[in-house]
Amino acid sequence: MFDTLSGKLTSAIRNLSGRGRISETNVREAMEEVRRALLEADVHVDVVSEFCEKVVQDALGAQVTTSLKPGEEMIGIVNQRLIDFMGPVDSHVMLVDPGPTIIMMCGLQGSGKTTTCGKLAAYLKNRGKKVSLIAADLQRPAAVEQLQVIANDVNTNAKGVGEVTCYAEPEKCGEYGTATGVAVGVCKRGVKQARKDKVDVVILDTAGRLHIDEDLMKELRGVQNTTKPHQVYLVIDAMIGQDAVNAAGTFHEQLATDGIILTKFDSDTRGGAALSVKRVTGVPIKFIGTGEKFDAFEEF
Ligand code: GDP
Repeated sequence: MFDTLSGKLTSAIRNLSGRGRISETNVREAMEEVRRALLEADVHVDVVSEFCEKVVQDALGAQVTTSLKPGEEMIGIVNQRLIDFMGPVDSHVMLVDPGPTIIMMCGLQGSGKTTTCGKLAAYLKNRGKKVSLIAADLQRPAAVEQLQVIANDVNTNAKGVGEVTCYAEPEKCGEYGTATGVAVGVCKRGVKQARKDKVDVVILDTAGRLHIDEDLMKELRGVQNTTKPHQVYLVIDAMIGQDAVNAAGTFHEQLATDGIILTKFDSDTRGGAALSVKRVTGVPIKFIGTGEKFDAFEEF
């Protein structure tokens, strides 16, 4: 998934290591190529600047300029900084015992949130869990039916001995926008039902918008305050590149998210969004989506 980016980084560093001598000037020159590679991969400009400056400082501090193998040292330094920027890697889904563990999914409309709820349910079914998907995206009437179809498909066709059901109140879509707290009510009753049914994991499919607005955030905070989720995951479309950073920043500020799921990695080979959203939120990227089917889902 990071093929283009790693190819460009390798050639930038190879140019440097091909030189007999190395100086502060050509460390900075090489970093210009690294900078270009990162920008072309759609990494956010502030993240790129911070990254490159840190690498230059590391290189000068490590006295790469007087080293006998400057190229190899530079590779080591860039590598270590990339690890620092992306780490710590943690794709573990924290589950509480006794259950149910409540996971709240949030993200912009079209980010792949509803699809990802199904993928996460399939992942947990394969680990023997009983999962309830709660249809709380009432903003988009079709989302309720979409989640019901997905739940049924995953329950029937996904691997594993677990079970996947869907809790929905489709008639509530009509009230959405005319009465406040409709989605909050659906979540509350869905969680109550899940407790009765001894479900292991509840996944809340919340509403999105095309852009972040205060009404959406108010609703999501309402859902969060009422259901007290153990984990809040933010679903981000990797293809939206730089915009991903702003969206991720706002969601994280408002909801204190615990993890990120990046979707549409099959369409985006540049990989820049991963570096940016990780840097801006500081929370781990848990999974990536690599297609439309429920099994196109990988631990990051
Ligand atoms: P929501 O509005 O955030 O709930 O978005 P949906 O789950 O309805 O997804 C929007 C579109 O993106 C649908 O056509 C999905 O099939 C598609 N989609 C979701 N995840 C992925 C992914 O990882 N790869 C690809 N190629 N498409 C995806």
